[in-house]
Amino acid sequence: MANQALYRRYRPGSFAELRGQEPVVRALQNAVQQGRVGHAYLFSGPRGTGKTSTARILAKALNCTDLSSAGEPCGQCQSCLDIANNTSYDLIELDAASNNKVDDVRDLISRVAMGSPGKAKVYVLDEVHMLTPGAENALLKTLEEPPDHVVFVLCTTEPHKVVPTIRSRTQHLEFNLIDGDVLADHARWVVEQAGLEVDDDAIDHAVHRGAGSARDTLSALDQIAAAGGVADRLDAVDTVIEALGGQDYGPAFVAVHDALRSGREPRIIGEAVLDRLRNAFLCAMGADLSHLTDAQQETARATAALIPPAGLTRALEVLGTALVDMRQAPDPRVDLEVALGRLTRRDLDTDIAALLERVERLERRGPPTSAGSSDHDNPTPATEAPTPARRAAGPTSGHERARAAIAQIQAKQTEAEARSAAPAAGGSESEAAPSPERAPRPTLGAVRAGTAPATQPAGPEPSEAD
Ligand SMILES: [Zn+2]
Repeated sequence: MANQALYRRYRPGSFAELRGQEPVVRALQNAVQQGRVGHAYLFSGPRGTGKTSTARILAKALNCTDLSSAGEPCGQCQSCLDIANNTSYDLIELDAASNNKVDDVRDLISRVAMGSPGKAKVYVLDEVHMLTPGAENALLKTLEEPPDHVVFVLCTTEPHKVVPTIRSRTQHLEFNLIDGDVLADHARWVVEQAGLEVDDDAIDHAVHRGAGSARDTLSALDQIAAAGGVADRLDAVDTVIEALGGQDYGPAFVAVHDALRSGREPRIIGEAVLDRLRNAFLCAMGADLSHLTDAQQETARATAALIPPAGLTRALEVLGTALVDMRQAPDPRVDLEVALGRLTRRDLDTDIAALLERVERLERRGPPTSAGSSDHDNPTPATEAPTPARRAAGPTSGHERARAAIAQIQAKQTEAEARSAAPAAGGSESEAAPSPERAPRPTLGAVRAGTAPATQPAGPEPSEAD
């Protein structure tokens, strides 16, 4: 018991103990209470956010002999104890990542027909998107006509990779990354329960490393406790943020490379950086940061001071796109590294947002010089007298001229985008469509990371009613 990982030892055992997944808990607890539990669920969300723990709690609730009126399992009856000790016949877990063949699923399904000692038999298939097409078909047949006493819980970190025929036969419940303050509370509770000698600073560090995952937070806590303190406070995320602020990209690549080599997932690193940038952006916009821990608020303020708002928005865009691409990428490490390259080596990137950020960075370096004080900054030939209109509205410093030029390019882009979007939105074939040679060329913004065509296909807006 002493050597059992913290996240296993302090796994939530009841709906009340599940942290940060209130909508999911409410939906399941209501279903249990009202006897309306479905035959198949799809639990999707980042790793370590409680999907399989929730499936186990559901199995307890469905078989508990002393269920509370709120739909909460008692945790004391034989069935609850058997499930907690992994000795129950009513809970069958299969890791689809390593048992993805058609025979594995057939073997599982052959047992579905058999009776069950308890009231309900719960089959949990983890990483269900890893099933081979044959295995998916075998599963689909059972999902079409499930026996009354069977509940399937399909878990996945990649719901878009689960075939639509399976998805459509399940109730989809989405798990979210868990808020920092919720994780910090949970970590403090675990430290107290386990009698660990870990200070608040180390807890903040673990929460930071966990990046919204309860499992990763407790694993980090395990490591800190084992090492007798925080060994390296400067992790990959810190170095990347520093590189984004100071443009010294060497250490960022080394740190990210080391983190990947030590087994951290590229998406988790990307999401952690994104999370940090988002907090800084909210801070820069003066938003309420009360959902963050004190340490996270401090980090958000420091990051906002380091990276100007234009830099934050651009980094959020580039990383966000990379994270979406990573889901389909054969090697997500490449997407992460390319995104970091584009963000830290601004000379590699010539899009408008990068230019705007460079201007903003220049402006931050010092106040722009006034029009009269520097000819170097305002090389308008003396022979060309500015008109009153130009004097009133025209840009006066180099930075302002750069901004004005960028604004002009952006206006042209918007115009071009509006032109290209108009026929698609109009939909009427009888209206004069633009001739091919008049069709606008792809804009810089669209070419950048292919965002425009990839994420905004021309066509009707997706409806909100869903
Ligand atoms: Zn019970």
